[in-house]
Amino acid sequence: MLTENLNKNQATILEIVRMSTEDGPGIRTTVFLKGCTLKCAWCHNPESISIKPQLQWVGSRCIGCKTCLSVCKENALTLTETGMLIDRARCTGCGDCAMECPGTALELLGKIWSLDDLVEEVIKDRAYFKTSDGGITISGGEPTMQAGFAGAFLKSLRQKGLHTALDTCGQCSRDALDQTLPYAAMVLFDMKLIDPKAHKEFTGHDNKRILDNLLYVADYIRSHVYPNTLWIRTPLIPNATATPENINGIGQFIAKNLFDVVDRWELCAFNNLCRDKYLRLDQKWTFHDAQLLTKDDMDALTKTAKSSGVDRKIVFPTGSTRMESSETEEKQEIQQKVGGLNVNFCSCRPKLT
Ligand code: SF4
Ligand code: SF4
Repeated sequence: MLTENLNKNQATILEIVRMSTEDGPGIRTTVFLKGCTLKCAWCHNPESISIKPQLQWVGSRCIGCKTCLSVCKENALTLTETGMLIDRARCTGCGDCAMECPGTALELLGKIWSLDDLVEEVIKDRAYFKTSDGGITISGGEPTMQAGFAGAFLKSLRQKGLHTALDTCGQCSRDALDQTLPYAAMVLFDMKLIDPKAHKEFTGHDNKRILDNLLYVADYIRSHVYPNTLWIRTPLIPNATATPENINGIGQFIAKNLFDVVDRWELCAFNNLCRDKYLRLDQKWTFHDAQLLTKDDMDALTKTAKSSGVDRKIVFPTGSTRMESSETEEKQEIQQKVGGLNVNFCSCRPKLT
């Protein structure tokens, strides 16, 4: 059973990313909510899975002053020769240590925002929404996990005449969709794996609810003025989703059930630029050593998608392949040297901010 937060007035926000060109049409401001209903093995935003604020430590910024140790009332921190140990069972996420850290080595990921403050913050970007036909995308994590707030946020923006997009993995209740769909001009919907067993293996849940919800979204679009646009997004993960069988299966599902409502099917190339995020959160990443796809891999999967029965014009490959990734890897190397902060990546949207 899904338990969604229905509080309309405040939510835990991971990040606000401005000038995004990856989360819908035009230039957008994307609000990432914290908390996810899936646990994808390849997740590129591990800090978005838990709805609670989480502490991270960036070693290259630490000056060893030990201020944080004396600030923490929970005794959750230990500075060792190999780095900072964070006892996550003790840490309450109060953020006191991060506030006092002179090196900004400690950072609290996730902040509570009020509805009014967040609306006020994002509408500052109105100028580029207008000139680019862009708008605001609410993403995550899974934004419907905080459905009350997500709906109220989208509604407020729609009332101001702004274009809104809901980016969802689809693992949510029907009620959560009903609270958000009326106020989203478009929906970005993830279809990761068509095989229910593989879906469960890689994400923790089979895809029954997700596919049912996708059909519901399609019917909603057919029978309402808004939303009026649907993009499907499939992350191409080596040895997981990036197989011809999976892409062909997803394509057949779209062709059979959604041919009249899907405007775009994005195939999003895997990237490995989130490796440091896992290290900073003391987590292991199954795909740490996975290679990027080659251009030939991408071309072959794109060809499979285009021959699966969908309108060929809706298929869009995105992201860097192995041959094209040298610049991205160079940026990653530079970022690691400066502490590795301010990198936001998901399988669909490599970003350097
Ligand atoms: S307060 Fe910051 S700089 Fe000082 S020891 Fe703690 S993490 Fe390092
Ligand atoms: S966030 Fe609060 S509880 Fe956690 S380590 Fe820092 S001071 Fe201690």
